[in-house]
Amino acid sequence: MDELGLLRKEIGEARSLFFLGGAGVSTASGIPDFRSPAGLYAIESRYGVSYEEMLSRDYFYDHPQEFYEFFFSSMVYPRAKPNKAHLALADFEKRGHEVHIATQNIDGLHRKAGSSKVYELHGNVYRYYCTRCARRFSYGEIAHEGVPHCPCGGILKPEVTLYGEELPQQALGAALRAVREADVMICGGTSLRVYPAAAIPEYFMGKCKILINKEATPLDPYFDYVFHEDIGKTLEALLS
Ligand code: NAD
Repeated sequence: MDELGLLRKEIGEARSLFFLGGAGVSTASGIPDFRSPAGLYAIESRYGVSYEEMLSRDYFYDHPQEFYEFFFSSMVYPRAKPNKAHLALADFEKRGHEVHIATQNIDGLHRKAGSSKVYELHGNVYRYYCTRCARRFSYGEIAHEGVPHCPCGGILKPEVTLYGEELPQQALGAALRAVREADVMICGGTSLRVYPAAAIPEYFMGKCKILINKEATPLDPYFDYVFHEDIGKTLEALLS
């Protein structure tokens, strides 16, 4: 059996699969990542502030108008559909395997594909809450131009982890439990440069660690198998 065949067998026999993904999982759905040459970092020049500053907690409260102009035009893709990568993971679960997905993405596409155990480490652009009365809203319930407000007058904030904020503790805790209990871990479509999410692979105690990312990452040497390939194509090959 070739290497791919052996890996496929190991994954198929695993009691539990843990997947950690990032922006590269959704590029084939038309959502740009941050660090590829055509990624969102290119947008910085248009707004005159760094990407990290624009997406920081302080910037949100100091410049809500500019924040939302950028956010609605560059961070929310309501027409995006799950691609091969999301569907391969969802199908694998449908076939009876235990699959836990921790994602740095905020686009909701894993759930849209049908995966059930999804831990959104950086939140979700389709959920909002009032900064004054804490009432919650879905994307469909709010205005998409200017700064959305609650009927009470408070500014709405997206349930997205901004720079300067902590990760949602429930999602992080669930991801850490799942990675510790998994037999196989696949990380993919992530530069593994954004912490604390990039530290999650260190908690894996199982048998087989696989990385699928177009570019090399600082953690490549930590993995047993590294594919510098497209995540959708490779996940399909491994999970079919
Ligand atoms: P990143 O942008 O830092 O890195 C993405 C990586 O994916 C790159 O190394 C790139 O080479 C790789 N990649 C791109 N397309 C790929 C493909 N088809 N197959 C395999 N690899 C591919 O992304 P990150 O590590 O997730 O950075 C984290 C930050 O980016 C998070 O804070 C996240 O919230 C945010 N983000 C999310 C979205 C989204 O929700 N879809 C989009 C952009 C950024």
